[in-house]
Amino acid sequence: VAEKETLGFQAEVKQLLHLMIHSLYSNKEIFLRELISNASDAADKLRFEAINNDALYGNDHELKIKVSFDKAARTVTISDNGIGLSREEAIAHLGTIAKSGTKEFFSKLSGDQQADAALIGQFGVGFYSGFIVADRITVESRRAGLDAAQGVRWESAGEGDYSVEQIDKPNRGTDVILHLREGEDELLSAWKLKSIIRKYSDHISIPIVMQKEEWDQEKQESVLKDELETVNQASALWARSKSDITKEQYEEFYKHVSHDFQPPLAYTHNRVEGRSEYTQLLYVPSHAPFDLWDRNKRGGIKLYVKRVFIMDDAEQLMPTYLRFVKGVIDSADLPLNVSREILQESRDVRVIREGSTKRVLGMLEEMANADEQELKEKYTTFWREFGQVLKEGIGEDATNKDRIAKLLRFASTNEDSDEQKVSFADYAGRMKEGQDKIYYVTAESFVAAKNSPHLEIFRKKGVEVLLMTDRVDEWMLSFLGEFEGKELVSVAKGGLDLGKLEDEAEKKEHEETETQYKDLVEKMKVALGDKAKDVRVTFRLTDSPACLVADENELSGNLVRMLKAAGQ
Ligand code: ADP
Ligand code: MG
Repeated sequence: VAEKETLGFQAEVKQLLHLMIHSLYSNKEIFLRELISNASDAADKLRFEAINNDALYGNDHELKIKVSFDKAARTVTISDNGIGLSREEAIAHLGTIAKSGTKEFFSKLSGDQQADAALIGQFGVGFYSGFIVADRITVESRRAGLDAAQGVRWESAGEGDYSVEQIDKPNRGTDVILHLREGEDELLSAWKLKSIIRKYSDHISIPIVMQKEEWDQEKQESVLKDELETVNQASALWARSKSDITKEQYEEFYKHVSHDFQPPLAYTHNRVEGRSEYTQLLYVPSHAPFDLWDRNKRGGIKLYVKRVFIMDDAEQLMPTYLRFVKGVIDSADLPLNVSREILQESRDVRVIREGSTKRVLGMLEEMANADEQELKEKYTTFWREFGQVLKEGIGEDATNKDRIAKLLRFASTNEDSDEQKVSFADYAGRMKEGQDKIYYVTAESFVAAKNSPHLEIFRKKGVEVLLMTDRVDEWMLSFLGEFEGKELVSVAKGGLDLGKLEDEAEKKEHEETETQYKDLVEKMKVALGDKAKDVRVTFRLTDSPACLVADENELSGNLVRMLKAAGQ
C-alpha cells in the first residue's frame, strides 16, 4: 500500500496560484462555476467510457452534482459521481498544468496585477480557483472501475506542495472540499450558493442538487432538511429552444465549454434537419488564445451524439482556418462509438463541417456588414485577434473563397495607420477614373510598406495601395488573383502598366525619355551583366533614383525573404 507522500507543485502551478488569489479576488464567485464545470466534465467522461463498458456505472446510473456546506466545519463541498481520479491522475491533473504553451504563457506575465488578471482569465483558471476562497482544499476521489480501497485523498494549502494518500471511498467520483478562508462565511448559506449556481451554472446538463432549507420558527433560523432539490434547469442548453435561453445563459455556457473567462464576441445556435440532423451552438471568442499558433492544437468543438459527450476538440468538425471557433455540435446521425478515424471519413461529418462553416461565415458577415457601431467594433476586435487566421481560408476553402475575400481587411495608403480596416469593397469604391486594378505592396513591416519607393508614383497620382505585412499575405495572394473582376496587382512587379491612368501626353513624354536614355541603359546592362535580368527606364519613381523590381512571373522580394527565413 502506498504511503502518504508529499509532492511539490510544478513551478507554473505555484505562479498561477499566487496570481489567481491576488488578482481574481473581486471575481471570487467563479470558483464554484469552475468546480461544477469540472464535475460536469467528469460526468461526461464517465458516460463516454461507459458506452463500451456499462459496468462502470455499478448500481449508480444517475449522474449528478451535489453542493453542500457545513457551518461548523466551515467547509463547502462539491461532489460528483463522475469518472473520478486515480492516485496517478490526481498527481498528474492536480499538480501540473497539462496545457501546451504553459511556459511561454507564464513568461508573458508582467507583474502588473490588472494586466495579469486579464491574462490569467484567458488561460483558464480551473480547479485552482478554489484557493481564492479556501486556504486548504481536500479532494477525495475514486476512479470508476477501481474498488473502494483504491480511493485517493489529495490535499493542499495552495502554497508549494500537496499530499496524496490512499483512502477507502465507498462510492465512485470526486468530492472537492473547500476549507474556507477567514471572512468567507457568507458562502455557508444555501441561499448564497444557490444564487451563484443559478447565475453561472444553470446550463449544466445534469442536475445540481442541494439539501432543501426550511425556516424554523422556534430556532429563528433556517435549517437543512434531508430532502434534496435540483437547483439548475438540468437539461442540455443547446437542446433547449432559443427563445428560452437568455444572453447571460449563452455566455455562461460559453465559459464552460471554452474554459475562457471573457464573454464571447458572437454566437449562433441552430437545429439543422435534412440530409443530416444536428444541433450547433458555435461561438467566436473575443480574444485569441495564447496557443493560437500551436500546430498541435486541435479545434475547440465538443462533439456530442444525442446528448452524450463523445470528444473534445473534434477538429474534423471545423476547417483549420476557423480553429478559433468554440462550441458544441450534437449529431443525431453519428454512432455513439465514433472515433477520430471514423470522423475523418464520415460523410455526415463533411455535411456538418460545411454547414457549420457557412454559419460561422454568416456570423462574421453580420458583424462586418453591420451599420450598428457596437457590431462594427466587434468586427474590428475580431479582425485584430483572428484576421491572420481567417486569411488562411483563402487558400484552404475554395468553395467559400469569395465570401472570405469580402471579410478581409487591410491597411492602406488611404489611412495613416497600421490598423487593418479597409475592405476590397472600400478600395473599389475609391478607385480612380480609368483604374481597373487593385494595387498592393507586400513588406515585412508596416513602416517598410508605407515607405516603399514603389508607392511614389501611386501617391503622385492619388491611387490607393493596400499595404500587406502579415506573414500569411504572400501565400494568401497566391490564391487570390482578383476581387470581383478586378485584378490584384503588386506595385513591385514587372513593367507596371497603369493602363488608362496614364494619359496620352504622359505616354509620349515617356517614350521620348526612353529613347533619350537608350544608350545609358545599354551600358548599364553590360556593366551589371548577370547581376540584373533587365534594366529599364522607370516612371514609377518620383523621389528615389532607382529601385529593384521582380519579374512578372517571379517570386516577389518579400516572399523570397520569407522562404529564406523558413530555411527553403
Ligand atoms: P480543465 O478543466 O481546463 O482541464 P482544471 O484545472 O479545471 O482544468 O482541471 C484540471 C484537471 O483535473 C481536469 O482536466 C481533470 O482531469 C481533473 N479534474 C478536476 N476536477 C475533477 C473532477 N471533479 N473529477 C475528475 N477529474 C477532475
Ligand atoms: Mg475545469
